Amino acid sequence: MSDPQSESSSDSQSEPPSEASREPEPFRYDAVVDPGEKRHIRYEVGETYLGDPIEMPVTIVNGEAGGPTLFLSAGIHGDELNGVKVVQEVADRYSPAEIHGTVVCLHVCNVPAYEAQRRDTPIYDQDMNRSFPGKERSNTTERMANRIYRRFVAQCDLGLDFHTSTRNRTTIYHARADLDDPGVRRLARAFATNVVLYGAGDQGSLRSTATADGIPTVTVEMGRAHRFQPVLIEKALEGVESVLAEYELTPGEAVHWPGWFQSTAADSTKRWLRADTGGLVEMEWGPYPLVYEGETICTVTNHFKTAEHAVEAPFDGLILGSLENPVAAPGHPLCHIAQLDGETRREIEREIEIGEFDGYRSHGDSWADD
Ligand SMILES: [Zn+2]
Repeated sequence: MSDPQSESSSDSQSEPPSEASREPEPFRYDAVVDPGEKRHIRYEVGETYLGDPIEMPVTIVNGEAGGPTLFLSAGIHGDELNGVKVVQEVADRYSPAEIHGTVVCLHVCNVPAYEAQRRDTPIYDQDMNRSFPGKERSNTTERMANRIYRRFVAQCDLGLDFHTSTRNRTTIYHARADLDDPGVRRLARAFATNVVLYGAGDQGSLRSTATADGIPTVTVEMGRAHRFQPVLIEKALEGVESVLAEYELTPGEAVHWPGWFQSTAADSTKRWLRADTGGLVEMEWGPYPLVYEGETICTVTNHFKTAEHAVEAPFDGLILGSLENPVAAPGHPLCHIAQLDGETRREIEREIEIGEFDGYRSHGDSWADD
């Protein structure tokens, strides 16, 4: 476990002392949003078969005072809804009078996928999060990605991209970030999730593309597709508040820090446990996502219940993600687990004991109010 607060204060020595001394500037896409202006727009990113425009909802809050430009994006995968709610709330809450800099809210990036409530663009199954920065003269998804990237993302200084697990799975609330990049490290620390999975990210993802272009970007993964999970949405809104404070987009607010912090990258400390036999999967872990070496995480039984295969924790670990659809064939991923060091494990145990552990709220029926 590392102490995010002390690391951040050493990071901040290499950062400019104040962002708030910048002059206010207009935000330009095809049009201009002046300082002191908040605008809700529908921005055309493409065209349907019928020749109707495909319009993406965007809110731009340009502060009366100068500062950095932050983008928030959701709905790059059309069925991942928690982030859509986060972006709606942020777009509603902030006014130009209180913002130093600009907040660009991209409410729903892949509109055709959103309308179909699917992950990928319908018909062609193109994944927008492998399509950035896109191309002007390529397939539908690349064209949309290109308009979004050039008009909005490229005008920003940093960004948060909201996702959930893919359908039939769930994921612990966590960030994905390239912690080797100092700008990304500062942003991930400020967003203040307990868990960060680090790495450069997939080619064509918004996070890896923007970060490579000098726009530090963090992906936030939160819970399940196809629903709102209020506890996770509230945590993400606190994370956004904390980022706004860290970059002085809002004055006088304290940055939040998590009580414990786990970052993990290497395959030896993080793995997907897979089914070796097909059958019916029953999750045994919970309600907390903390498991101990040798503990049964789930069982796979055949339909006659004559054979049972127990899947055990390979180490003391944190369940990062878990299958929700209870049928599996050999090779199906059942559970994503990260190894915990003793100090982090003890801190999680302490939080569980005093009723403060709040990192999941997603496993089956074990959590009542997600
Ligand atoms: Zn996603």
